[in-house]
Amino acid sequence: MLRPPYVYRWAGLLAVVGLFVGVTAVVLLDEGPATALAAGPVIAVPSVTAVDAAAPVAAPPRADPTLLSVARAHGKVVSLTFDDGPDGRYTPQILRLLAQNHATATFCQIGGQARAQPALVRRVVAAGHRLCNHTITHDEGLGTHTPRVMDQQLRVSRDVLVAAAGGADVDYFRAPGGNWTPTMLRLSAQNCMQPLGWTVDTRDWTRPGSAAIVASVKRQVHPGAIILFHDGGGPRDQTVSAVAQLLPWLRAQGYSFVFPT
Ligand SMILES: [Zn+2]
Repeated sequence: MLRPPYVYRWAGLLAVVGLFVGVTAVVLLDEGPATALAAGPVIAVPSVTAVDAAAPVAAPPRADPTLLSVARAHGKVVSLTFDDGPDGRYTPQILRLLAQNHATATFCQIGGQARAQPALVRRVVAAGHRLCNHTITHDEGLGTHTPRVMDQQLRVSRDVLVAAAGGADVDYFRAPGGNWTPTMLRLSAQNCMQPLGWTVDTRDWTRPGSAAIVASVKRQVHPGAIILFHDGGGPRDQTVSAVAQLLPWLRAQGYSFVFPT
């Protein structure tokens, strides 16, 4: 049986232990969220915010509210554009063909797909190609929204691409379906993304056969042409086959490949 002095000693010891546990818990709780914030995926946010903050000051001169539908570089040049990716199956095939033919291209990517496959976005950028914002969900009715909603969608999809790409710039915006409105052109330029059109529509998405896609380009191409292909949004084996034939052909015709400016 414990006598009163022992009770007091145990009570004192328990109080000290309790105090120590309490202080430790408070310290851990204080540090917990900060540690999680620093180590978690949220770490990408500051770079996106930095891009946002810098954007109005560092607006590229080419971002004006006019639809760019001709590559203005001198000489016999064309700009290749690939829409609706990234696609795990076809984008790598297109990248391989571009590398084999020392060609550059612009990829108009959908934010939702970029978010799901960021490694593909980084591969596109690492290979020296450029990114174009093609909205988060390929919303062909984007122009029917209010300017505020439209602006928000442009920014969100741009930020998703920037984050997926590890901070690379997104130089262009292309309206899904080419459904432009004057407000969309203005907002695109305000957000430092040049509205990007095209002059040669291969209509490869209708799957007319690779021979028809090749013939379409051969018939329409001209110096300064911006050629529209698709590396995503459905089966694109015909596009891959056509591009494999067209890149050497364009080179043989004396064309070189430039980014739209
Ligand atoms: Zn599209």
